[in-house]
Amino acid sequence: MEYLSDRIKALSVSQTLAMAQKSRELKAKGFDIISLSLGEPDFNTPDYIKEAAKKAIDDNYSKYPPVPGYNDLREAISKKFREENGINYSPDQIVVSAGGKHSIINVILTIINPGDEVILFAPYWVSYLDQIILAGGKPVIIEAKLENDFKVKPEQLEAVITGKTRLIIFNSPSNPTGMVYSREEMEKIARIVQKHEGLLILSDEIYEHILFEGEHISMASFEFIYDRVITVNGVSKGYAMTGWRIGYIGAPLWIARACDKLQGQFTSGVCSIAQRAALAAIRSNDGSRKMMRDAFLRRRDLVCGLLKEIKGMKVRVPQGAFYIMPDISSYFGKSDGEIKINNSEDLTLYLLDKAQVALVGGDAFGAPRCIRISYATSDDLLVEAVKRIRAALERLR
Ligand code: GLU
Repeated sequence: MEYLSDRIKALSVSQTLAMAQKSRELKAKGFDIISLSLGEPDFNTPDYIKEAAKKAIDDNYSKYPPVPGYNDLREAISKKFREENGINYSPDQIVVSAGGKHSIINVILTIINPGDEVILFAPYWVSYLDQIILAGGKPVIIEAKLENDFKVKPEQLEAVITGKTRLIIFNSPSNPTGMVYSREEMEKIARIVQKHEGLLILSDEIYEHILFEGEHISMASFEFIYDRVITVNGVSKGYAMTGWRIGYIGAPLWIARACDKLQGQFTSGVCSIAQRAALAAIRSNDGSRKMMRDAFLRRRDLVCGLLKEIKGMKVRVPQGAFYIMPDISSYFGKSDGEIKINNSEDLTLYLLDKAQVALVGGDAFGAPRCIRISYATSDDLLVEAVKRIRAALERLR
């Protein structure tokens, strides 16, 4: 007899991963699918990082690493936080985990009790919602409209805070919209956090290095809320290291200690070789970070330019990350004579079927009128993908 826990039954399948899997399967069957679903740099990990990993194998980094990460890695992360973000986290305030996703669930499981409210800004990244549900928390969703550049207004935030609100999840540059909050906008949010005793804010800064305009601001750099912020980051996006699975937090000591304790019963310290590679990535920089960021900027301009020529799409030009989230609701109710589009999910399946382009529907991100396009792929493929999308959309009447 199959018997699953209520916990797992309440969990949805990650739509970003599901769509990536679907396109892999179709490609394996010989279909010419262009996948703009999964958000990961198409670049290879830079050579100096790969060399460090090879050396780590030869140097016999094969024993259990310390649960929160090697000391020298935590020291390097502490220095990175100080120099790049203006935040003082001592090495013991840092916990290294198997990717940003793991860092976030550690924090949520550590501080959320069943019934605690957690505020999400929609459009939000898929896994935040399910991770809150997994912990028994109650997601409270604020809708940030496209007309407001997908940013939440301070008064919207104020309006939903109750005595049960424990945590806000903040993400800039944002996955899935690519929007970036300014210092002034962030300070207003920080002031609201400051006013509510016991309220914490998790700042997911994984796209920090993929920023096209302005400067990256860390939530914890507002000193008046430093002790209420958990900063999440990792090497996946900035150094093209998604498969190495290294994320980390900088947090108040009591939270870092609790995450260490949780991780000690769950995964132990993460892969020793990947940690040595991450150390090389964080310690030195051969210019590849900038090269990748410049390529993403060029592609952003390319894709936004092409998308804006498609009549039924509303596009906001993102300032960071490598996603665009157009509003495609003008196609709802239309048909190509065969398939009727009722919602974002239908449009995603239609484009997969008729244009052979894989995207992710907006529902998974709390944005049912939108669709997410990840443009972390080659310029040629992007041009071809948008051409196909346009042709398929033009058949809808
Ligand atoms: N963060 C990436 C994305 O949103 C990776 C996939 C995932 O883990 O959801 O596509």
